[in-house]
Amino acid sequence: MNAWKITALIVFIAGFTLVVLGGIYNPYTNVVDLPSGGFRGIGFNMYAGEVVNYHLTSLERFTVYIMNSTEFHKLMNNGTFNGSYYTQTGKNMNLEFKAPQKDVYYIVIANFNSQSSIEVDFVYRKGMSMPLFLGGSIIVAISIVVLLIDLYGSKQVNKNRVCPGCGREVSEEWNYCPYCRYELRDDKK
Ligand SMILES: [Zn+2]
Repeated sequence: MNAWKITALIVFIAGFTLVVLGGIYNPYTNVVDLPSGGFRGIGFNMYAGEVVNYHLTSLERFTVYIMNSTEFHKLMNNGTFNGSYYTQTGKNMNLEFKAPQKDVYYIVIANFNSQSSIEVDFVYRKGMSMPLFLGGSIIVAISIVVLLIDLYGSKQVNKNRVCPGCGREVSEEWNYCPYCRYELRDDKK
């Protein structure tokens, strides 16, 4: 019985870790250094429906694009900034992007507005990783059910405790058997 409980506890901790990895805590920060006319793309492997939140700040104006892998490779080969899902220019931006399908998506940060090199503070937080979150939740639920069944099972055993003096059913709470006055307290050990 004890080995069962320890196993269930380990499984519970493993499942809970997956839940945490899947969604509760996953912020990332980066400082992006951009020379005049330069840009930098940061790739994210995302599945359909997954959401990523970006927060970008700089003292100088910059431009942000979000592209799928095909459009990003066009940009790298031809320098064309067409076909982006998102385009915005400013000094302070909060944006959210939801992946339409499974792909690698690139956030492209560009310095087209300043003659000097600028730094953009880039904080991003990926949305919940559903497979990890769901898998972890299922594991947690199973381990709780196993623990409850184990607990219920040991209660059943206690209910069926029998007085060694007269053989009748007695409660775990009783110190003496009410039928034959047999001392049950010492029997517990
Ligand atoms: Zn008895």
